[in-house]
Amino acid sequence: MASPQCTQPNTIPNVSALLLLSLFLVIPALPHALPSTNVFSERTNYLHQEILKDEAVARLIELGKVSDANDFLERTFQSPASVRAGNLICKWMEDAGLHTWVDQMGNVHGRYEGMKPSEKALLIGSHLDTVIDAGMFDGALGIITAISALKALNIRGMLGRLRRPVEVIAFSDEEGVRFQSTFLGSAAIAGVMPVSTLHVHDKSGLTVQGALRNNSIETTEENLLQLKYDPESVWGYIEVHIEQGPVLETVGLPLGLVKGIAGQTRLRVTVKGSQGHAGTVPMRMRQDPMTAAAELIVLLESLCKQPEDYLSYDGQCTASTVQSLAGSLVCTVGEISTWPSASNVTFTVDIRAMDDLGREAIIYELSNRMYRICDKRSVLCLIERKHDANAVACDTGLSSKLKSAAYTALKQISGEDPDDVPILMSGAGHDAMAMSHLTKVAMLFVRCRGGVSHSPAEHVSDDDVWAAGMAISAFLETLM
Ligand SMILES: [Zn+2]
Repeated sequence: MASPQCTQPNTIPNVSALLLLSLFLVIPALPHALPSTNVFSERTNYLHQEILKDEAVARLIELGKVSDANDFLERTFQSPASVRAGNLICKWMEDAGLHTWVDQMGNVHGRYEGMKPSEKALLIGSHLDTVIDAGMFDGALGIITAISALKALNIRGMLGRLRRPVEVIAFSDEEGVRFQSTFLGSAAIAGVMPVSTLHVHDKSGLTVQGALRNNSIETTEENLLQLKYDPESVWGYIEVHIEQGPVLETVGLPLGLVKGIAGQTRLRVTVKGSQGHAGTVPMRMRQDPMTAAAELIVLLESLCKQPEDYLSYDGQCTASTVQSLAGSLVCTVGEISTWPSASNVTFTVDIRAMDDLGREAIIYELSNRMYRICDKRSVLCLIERKHDANAVACDTGLSSKLKSAAYTALKQISGEDPDDVPILMSGAGHDAMAMSHLTKVAMLFVRCRGGVSHSPAEHVSDDDVWAAGMAISAFLETLM
């Protein structure tokens, strides 16, 4: 199987780009041939639309067809389709005038050095992998809009004006489908991936290292450590992503600024009762784990709907913590199973909040109350913490620049003053979470239909793809 080999550095615009570029360069020397302002701006808008909307949408559709499955979209870490997707992304990066390479974790990079290659670089990224039966915008939107924005600048002859290097990174794994280990790509670059991850294996027994080797990428513990970027060489990281929620659609706006990514805890709750015969064990003697589990799940819902009714204002839980929870706390039950027998019920709990102390207070209160219910029902409860990630606050300075860029983009598209860009919280994890260990991060959300994601029904309108590309363009122009 061929590895995604990007070709040699290519910073020369293609022929059509050169022709267009020469148009812009020649015109000022011939004042009598100057187009009217309107014609000029129409042409500029036309260029933006052709690349940032029409071509970006066509590329999203093309990338959305690169799948390991025939009937639905599936691209997992280092699968044949993810290698093909990497090759395609490489080609588009080179078409934008970037020089490209694939690193030891299969991340695809495209970089333009700008006027001062020694300056700290702006990184822009998202992921090229997908869940199973995925939509075509999750991850891909952030990669394609960034490439398109740089291509539009290149065609206008403005890429060389960038005062710092800009690098687009298509991360090889964010969803964690194959190895159940999220952020393989971005965590390696941020330097927060334990080297032991190389030896984690998939369902077939193949390790992360083996999957990379099958694609001719030799990754050792040593060269994995070298993937970590020097924090001194990086200025910041921005990511454009579909919202994966209904807020922007509800307020009728295409773009929203992300103020932070919620912290997350996953619990596994096991309830052990006894398998009383359905007809012979009387009600007062039954120890049904299913009804106990149902009561625990209803408790979870009540507690997370009204945390202020459950938490006490002593010790670490202050009024501001409770207020923050009221606006950001989301708790759900994922899998529920009665395996291996009806006497054993297991379910998973997912708790997310912007306030880490508040999340801890919820877990403490939830666990105490769950154990009391189990005692009352004479069943055994075991609550295990399976995963914890602290909340990530986006950088205020970088976010404010990104928000202004989004505002400018919407104004350029509509020709009038748009509504203010709303500020949202991200309940879902993103590569920005891992990258926050390396540098300051900011994120922009793009409206998606019905808030649906991780599904073939996932949809972003062509105009919203355009708005996202324009926002990145406007952000890049602030670096000139
Ligand atoms: Zn995503």
